Amino acid sequence: MLPVSLDELRTKYQAERDRRIRPDGSAQYRDVAGEFGFYADDPHADPDLTREPLHDTVDVVVIGGGLGGLLAGARLRQAGVNSIRVVEKGGDFGGTWYWNRYPGIHCDIESYVYMPLLDELGYVPEWKYAPGEEIRRHARAIGEHFDLYRDACFQTAVTELRWDSDAAEWIVSTDRGDRMRARYVVMSNGTLDRPKLPGIPGIDTFRGHTFHTSRWDYGYTGGDANGNLAGLAGKRVALIGTGATAIQVVPHLGRDARHLYVFQRTPSTVDYRANRPTDAEWAATLRQGWQRGRMENFLGLVSGEQVDKDLVRDAWTGSARLLRKITAGGDSLTSEERERVEELLDFEKMNEIRARVDSIVEDQETAELLKPWYRYACKRPTFSDEYLQTFNRPNVTLVDTADFGGVERVTENALVVGDREYEVDCIIFATGFQVAMSDMMTGRLPVFGRDGKHLLQHWSRGPRTLHGFYSDGFPNLLTMGALQNAASVNYAHILDEQATHIAAVVAEAGKRGARWVEPSAEAVDAWAAALGENAEELYRFHLECTPGYYNNEGKPHPRRGFAKGATAFHALLRDWRENGMDDVLVMR
Ligand code: NDP
Repeated sequence: MLPVSLDELRTKYQAERDRRIRPDGSAQYRDVAGEFGFYADDPHADPDLTREPLHDTVDVVVIGGGLGGLLAGARLRQAGVNSIRVVEKGGDFGGTWYWNRYPGIHCDIESYVYMPLLDELGYVPEWKYAPGEEIRRHARAIGEHFDLYRDACFQTAVTELRWDSDAAEWIVSTDRGDRMRARYVVMSNGTLDRPKLPGIPGIDTFRGHTFHTSRWDYGYTGGDANGNLAGLAGKRVALIGTGATAIQVVPHLGRDARHLYVFQRTPSTVDYRANRPTDAEWAATLRQGWQRGRMENFLGLVSGEQVDKDLVRDAWTGSARLLRKITAGGDSLTSEERERVEELLDFEKMNEIRARVDSIVEDQETAELLKPWYRYACKRPTFSDEYLQTFNRPNVTLVDTADFGGVERVTENALVVGDREYEVDCIIFATGFQVAMSDMMTGRLPVFGRDGKHLLQHWSRGPRTLHGFYSDGFPNLLTMGALQNAASVNYAHILDEQATHIAAVVAEAGKRGARWVEPSAEAVDAWAAALGENAEELYRFHLECTPGYYNNEGKPHPRRGFAKGATAFHALLRDWRENGMDDVLVMR
């Protein structure tokens, strides 16, 4: 039973959304550059690293050494590619898991479906939800297993890509003076990799200590990813943001700081977690190929498909299970009827989330502020058995900023919201990352294709790709990530499918003796048209959502991706691979 009517809830959602919409949208954030550049500095890199510039030739340069780059390396290696060079800005493999080492860091997707290549490495994670450190260790293990360290360049940023038509090679320039050549370039340089700061007036005047969660300063806080932040014992700490990162950090800050102020603009949905160590008996039953089946099972469940068995059985799949139960046999439903059923179930789920707040948070006023009023998928759902409980501590204060568009002002020693000033020693920004802003998309990494054509000019009216991977006029450039393709919450799975596809294309080109692969302009146009047809429903959903990075702060991009879902997209790619590739992909 819903406590209020659908209409009342809709009105409430709309009102909560409207009071958070800012006219400046995404422009409210500032880049961590110039005087704010220190927020992005790498605390883990070797400051004294030097090496001779490289001028050699490899088969493939992979830009980015996160899970995507590692998967590309691994799948290419399996496809028989010999010389693979990963070029990575950080000091080691790991990507997200290299940069983010904040206290409490865990992956919120089950480790058995998230951590890549478990079968290949013969590894079973230690926990159902892995701590960041275990994933980072695993990333390094993938690098070792597939011999990717041999040719890797760390602490190196690619500064230009230029296609040499005569040689049919890319010339790859870097900030270390390299000018290497590669037959193929795989771009896997991340979608949520550049930290962003809110453009709060006065932010530059603060005299206390400050850092972003993705560059955690353990020198200041003491402790490690397990907590024990002894350096905060006498400190008043402000945490700005209450997204998926903050949910994991807050319990540690609450435990160890003298006083913690959590500055919230929109509360997250916080569902139960129930993390537990891996059952050794279960692990002993796993047979070769087990992970693939489990990944497919999870993807199917969270995509709302009819799947017989739920292997993961957690809060992600639980919500999806409910939806399937109610809509089972509902193929006869019209799309309006289906949307309505989904809305009802969504309200029910959100009521459960709101009731959970009431059952945990003792102070009623605080509990009200912690209740999210939007549809479940509007923001990244979060999971914790400690976050809400932290607000019962006497040294923790929740400061709601929703009516002020966020924290209003920062002074030399305080944060200002409404008529209150909160004096603090330290400000920690859990304010997230620039979205889909890989260096290629911002222009920081200029890419020149056939006849010196600039990629961003070619894309001036929007990205032009086939299946998100390759663009006409840019031979042998293969892009991974979230561009004109399908996504899902288990992003590592998505990246694995992309890596497998890329490796198959490169292998096929090798087999045919093709010097380059490139889609025709017609194929690229057709893909853009297909995406446009599918994306309308998702666009409408995001338009009504509370602002956040999922919907470009309330102004969703109309044509983002393949709206039929990841399973359908993967099937489409598989079909395409099995049906000869050459009908749209020009190989010469
Ligand atoms: P988010 O972008 O999700 O959250 C940023 C937070 O900062 C929001 O709560 C936002 O409020 C708040 N904020 C921004 N500006 C202001 C302001 N001026 N005043 C007050 N508050 C402000 O970043 P996260 O780092 O939390 O998460 C980013 C993504 O990283 C996640 O969505 C997820 O995809 C991934 N992640 C994944 C994890 C995993 O386990 N797999 C764990 C952690 C993160 P508002 O919502 O109102 O904009």
